[in-house]
Amino acid sequence: MVQVFIKDIPKLQSLDEEVIIKGWLFNKRSSGKIHFLQVRDGTGFIQVIVEKGNVKDNVFQSCNELTLESSIIIEGKAKKDDRAPSGFEMDLTDLKVIQLAHEYPIQKKEHGIEFLLDNRHLWLRSPKQWAIQRIRNTIINSIFEYLNSQGFIKIDSPILTPTACEGTTTLFPVPYIPSWKDEGKGDAIKVFVPNSKTESNDKPFAFLTQSGQLYLEAAIFAHRRVFDFGPTFRAEKSKTRRHLTEFWMMDAEAAFVEHRENMKIQEELTVAIVKNVLDKNTKELEMLKRNIKSLENSAQGKYTIITHKEAIKITNKLGSKVSERDDFGAEDETILPKEFDRPIFIEKYPKEVKAFYMKEDANDKSRVLNDDMLAPEGYGEIIGGSQREDDYDKLLKRIKEEKLPVKDFEWYLDLRKYGSVPHSGFGIGLERYVTWICGLKHIRTTIPFPRMINRLRP
Ligand code: ATP
Repeated sequence: MVQVFIKDIPKLQSLDEEVIIKGWLFNKRSSGKIHFLQVRDGTGFIQVIVEKGNVKDNVFQSCNELTLESSIIIEGKAKKDDRAPSGFEMDLTDLKVIQLAHEYPIQKKEHGIEFLLDNRHLWLRSPKQWAIQRIRNTIINSIFEYLNSQGFIKIDSPILTPTACEGTTTLFPVPYIPSWKDEGKGDAIKVFVPNSKTESNDKPFAFLTQSGQLYLEAAIFAHRRVFDFGPTFRAEKSKTRRHLTEFWMMDAEAAFVEHRENMKIQEELTVAIVKNVLDKNTKELEMLKRNIKSLENSAQGKYTIITHKEAIKITNKLGSKVSERDDFGAEDETILPKEFDRPIFIEKYPKEVKAFYMKEDANDKSRVLNDDMLAPEGYGEIIGGSQREDDYDKLLKRIKEEKLPVKDFEWYLDLRKYGSVPHSGFGIGLERYVTWICGLKHIRTTIPFPRMINRLRP
């Protein structure tokens, strides 16, 4: 008898042979002489039928007593069934219970979101949550696949940093390197006493990274095209459906790539990701009841490019009060893309609303060569990119204008002293991307264990 994964059942050579599945019971319906067990094994879901008379009495009795989320090993024969989501069902012949679960807290009824988030360690098992993480996995793999195919290599940027990259208001400080003062209760209870200074840092704190971009810029001079993928941290003080305090970001950076080519890479990457998800996650998209029309359009490419100036005019006509020198607000990012059936680019924002490292537009010095990719259906910004300022003097001026500590950026300025070249890059906030692809209302379920202003557990 062979052990199989549920996902591989449609590929079985013969259905005559009995197979073994190891997994968990996620639902059960019973009517006297028959049990319908819904079983999941981490790779998929299958309905298992247990008929009295067809199995030993003790096996039927075990099924009677089986509770939600008990871990089990089942033996049986798979059979085709067109009504089943996977096209297959299974007739049980034998059952072993590994552990009988007691009063699983998540029952087949409506639970409040806070209850579910408190039980996130268990909620992850539910079919929709399962589907979201499978799609997230496809997106991550697609990013690696596409960038590797384009000659980008993965470079890991640091998590502990001495400076801000994306504005000082959302920095997460961590004591660095702290001394530990014993509270006199043995080793168990100790308190942080940040040093006023350490050998490696002239401040008592380091900051958790907000983005690896600046470090990637250093790496392009060694490897030409690089990317990183890792957790980033922003102490977001507002409670919104789009913000986490810990989220995963992919930054890509390339030497000798200018603004428009940078946007082309972002579009091709998005096309590659969406195509892969449509191809590999059909079942998961169905489980999420995702309307895939706009994903199908997004997989076609040909994304419209609109200047910030133009975008403001259109958005004003749609009722927004945003003005020509403003950043695009969350609401504007929602209303404008609703006019389009696939992602759009907004380019060339006013210099004063964007980060210091963006290159100024030679045709209009009050603007920068940046782009935001906005998802359709009101999901807002999914990628932010720009050509980077490669001129030493202009960059230094911007750092000073932003009142950033020049000393901390000396190494970054060095990159403009030794072989500076035009270069560009972009960042994808993975969870915003997953929110869009899965068609979710809130970002919180796109990550296994969300960290938000009001949530650090479990
Ligand atoms: P916003 O204005 O929406 O807060 P931002 O302009 O600060 O975002 P960037 O600095 O451009 O965002 O960050 C790069 C990407 O990281 C964004 O495109 C977005 O997808 C994502 N991102 C930024 N902040 C968060 C957050 N708090 N939670 C989840 N994703 C985020």
